[in-house]
Amino acid sequence: MTTFNALVVRESEPGNPKTAAAAIEQLTDDDLPSYDDVEHVTVDIAHSSLNYKDGMALTGKGRIIRSFPMVPGIDFAGTVASSESANFSEGDAVILTGWSVGERYWGGYAQRQRVDASWLVRQPAGLTSAQAMGIGTAGLTAMMCVLALEDGGITPADGPIVVTGAAGGVGSVAVALLASLGFEVTAVTGRPEQHDYLRELGATAFLTRDEMSEAPKPLEAETWAGAVDTVGSTMLAKVIAQTKHSGVVTACGLAGGVDLPSTVMPFILRGVRLQGIDSVMASTAVRDAAWARLVSDLPAALLDQITEVIPMTELLERGPAIMAGQVRGRVVVDPNA
Ligand code: NDP
Repeated sequence: MTTFNALVVRESEPGNPKTAAAAIEQLTDDDLPSYDDVEHVTVDIAHSSLNYKDGMALTGKGRIIRSFPMVPGIDFAGTVASSESANFSEGDAVILTGWSVGERYWGGYAQRQRVDASWLVRQPAGLTSAQAMGIGTAGLTAMMCVLALEDGGITPADGPIVVTGAAGGVGSVAVALLASLGFEVTAVTGRPEQHDYLRELGATAFLTRDEMSEAPKPLEAETWAGAVDTVGSTMLAKVIAQTKHSGVVTACGLAGGVDLPSTVMPFILRGVRLQGIDSVMASTAVRDAAWARLVSDLPAALLDQITEVIPMTELLERGPAIMAGQVRGRVVVDPNA
């Protein structure tokens, strides 16, 4: 029987998540989950990635893992090994992001995984599995933010776009995408040492995390045509207070907190629109459209600059690092290294 490696989080005291710990284990296909009443696809995973939520799962923060034992990893790309679904055949290149995989259902930190066929999308032509996971959940979310700005009618002629948490995964892809589409991009970062990196991705102006974390007045000078916010809390409130009339603010993250200490003034006096972005439960049609745009609009050279590849064994140290805001860009995980 073939065995494969997986990173498994187990509770040493069942029912007590505080006793959970992660370790690489050898599993067989018999260990993989079987879901009732759905068509399964078993995937040989080529790459996964490290997202903020994975950091939470690996460090036990926010109770992201809903059942134990769990194989974390909220996304992966790989090749279909076997399929019960007519939509996928052996050898197809596929991508999975979201659907609570790595939280409720076993995820990408393994050489092999079995999932519900309806969670998979086809890997678009023009992307390798490593590039697909260089983008990953974070990049898909950044693309969905850009699509929401476009749906809101925002064009480069309307003025600058501000990206918060810019040196992180979502932020880096958002900066690169927006700059490639001709937008003027201001990056908010707590890491001034990453200015050169962000400039290479296309940012032309910078603000510090500290100055954007000061409590805003209800309305501040109209500055932004739009925003991609990965931070939430006071920084999102500040961005909203500085958004121009009819501007669009996309909110996708909570790296700075889950609250939103804002007022209604930007909404009722400037018609500012606040658009929430959720990639986890997005429809397959939305995902396919976003992946197609990522292939056409995200230059491969910029994706390379954003991406670092690590072996699965390094996840135990990188999980805490992403929670501490110390990871730059995107980290691709190679479970076969
Ligand atoms: P990263 O950790 O890669 O990026 C987050 C960035 O936010 C950091 O790099 C840092 O950027 C900044 N940051 C970190 N801590 C703080 C803080 N306390 N105050 C202000 N800024 C801070 O994570 P991801 O890019 O993977 O995810 C970003 C956010 O988006 C997360 O909250 C994640 O949960 C969310 N997300 C949501 C999705 C959705 O579908 N809605 C999907 C994917 C992610 P810098 O150093 O430049 O300041």
